[in-house]
Amino acid sequence: PLTHRIVIAMVLAIVLGSLAQWMNTTTLPESIDWFLNTLLVGGVFAWMGKVFVAGLKLLVVPLVFVSLVCGVGALRDQSSLGRLSLKTIVLYLVTTGIAISIALTMATIIAPGEGIDLPTDTNFTPPPASSLLDVFVALVPTNGIAAMANASMLQVIVFAILVGTAIGRAGEPGKRLAAHFEDWNEAMMKLVEIIMHFAPYGVFALLFNLFASEGLGTVGQLVLYMFTVILVLAMHMTIVYPLMLRGLTGLSPLRFLSKMRGVQMFAFSTASSGATIPVTLRTVEERLGVDNRVASFAVPMGATINMDGTAIMQGVATVFIAQAFAQDLSMVDYLLVVLTAMLASIGTAGVPGVGLVTLAMVLNQVGLPAEGIALIIGVDRLLDMLRTAVNVTGDAAVSTIVAHSEGALDEGIFNDPKAGEVRD
Ligand code: ASP
Repeated sequence: PLTHRIVIAMVLAIVLGSLAQWMNTTTLPESIDWFLNTLLVGGVFAWMGKVFVAGLKLLVVPLVFVSLVCGVGALRDQSSLGRLSLKTIVLYLVTTGIAISIALTMATIIAPGEGIDLPTDTNFTPPPASSLLDVFVALVPTNGIAAMANASMLQVIVFAILVGTAIGRAGEPGKRLAAHFEDWNEAMMKLVEIIMHFAPYGVFALLFNLFASEGLGTVGQLVLYMFTVILVLAMHMTIVYPLMLRGLTGLSPLRFLSKMRGVQMFAFSTASSGATIPVTLRTVEERLGVDNRVASFAVPMGATINMDGTAIMQGVATVFIAQAFAQDLSMVDYLLVVLTAMLASIGTAGVPGVGLVTLAMVLNQVGLPAEGIALIIGVDRLLDMLRTAVNVTGDAAVSTIVAHSEGALDEGIFNDPKAGEVRD
């Protein structure tokens, strides 16, 4: 199966990349230096990684649009759209709320920021964050094509829902159009599969370059911070999602997690839940058995508004920064952190590093200096990769739960270990 080849690519890239990083710490003969740093890291691999991510991103807008138009157009009773979206959004908010609460609790217990010496030169300027009101006003695009051209995910979703609803109500012409969209959907899904075949090479190039050129930053005083974030991410993935799945659907969490491995690897290597949408959508539909009516809405929506892993980082980071600046957080502050982190993620697309941008909003809310972000920025890349894997797992878990409650889950597919597997 493809996933095995991706695992091999990941392991090779990490080992060889770290070796290259180590070699770079010594003075290399000019020819080897040229071969390694100019030809491979700065050349072939940089190109391969970019092409791979571009290929994934290229699919996102057309796939989401076509698939969501089909999904909404196929709803027998259009009023179910309201119920479905409400359930999805509430579950997304609840999982994020749980994630950040665990993060705050664990960070308070472990206290990773106690006794940190603050660096004197903090050269981080927080980027401006958009207000929540802007996000709501901007939901309806003034120009549907521009929304697609800019890949404004929430706007594309709104546009697709409107078109899908109209098609569902347009009688015979609507039926003809729906059939065309179904065909497009099939073709786009095939394209996802085609691009997935390049994953082992793309993943290798991305990870090799990362480990060879940047390394993982100096961990130093941040060991405990990283440990806390990773611990809570692992808890959320292996305890919270499984309990929710078991409790709300009775389905096997192990089967779920084993089928999510491929998606997690894509998310880990690209650090972008947005770029992973095609793979998440395909897996949720064809491997987990979620009907397109639910998946086409829940997955792209989740990639934009649901970031449990990011919220976990933000919870731990807030406590860490408060401790480093020796500032106490009150109960109200904790509540504010939970609320802001939940809301901040709504308007921001799932792209690498965006969690740090919204962290500025959270810190601001509780009166902590946004410069505190400079403390943790050095180790953020690896954490970004890990939390993105959690983010996409959350999207898929909620999609599965909502589909189950709507009678839109094919348990035959869910329980078949081989269903929808991509093979060479
Ligand atoms: N990279 C994350 C994602 O795409 C967002 C973040 O935490 O920075 O889901």
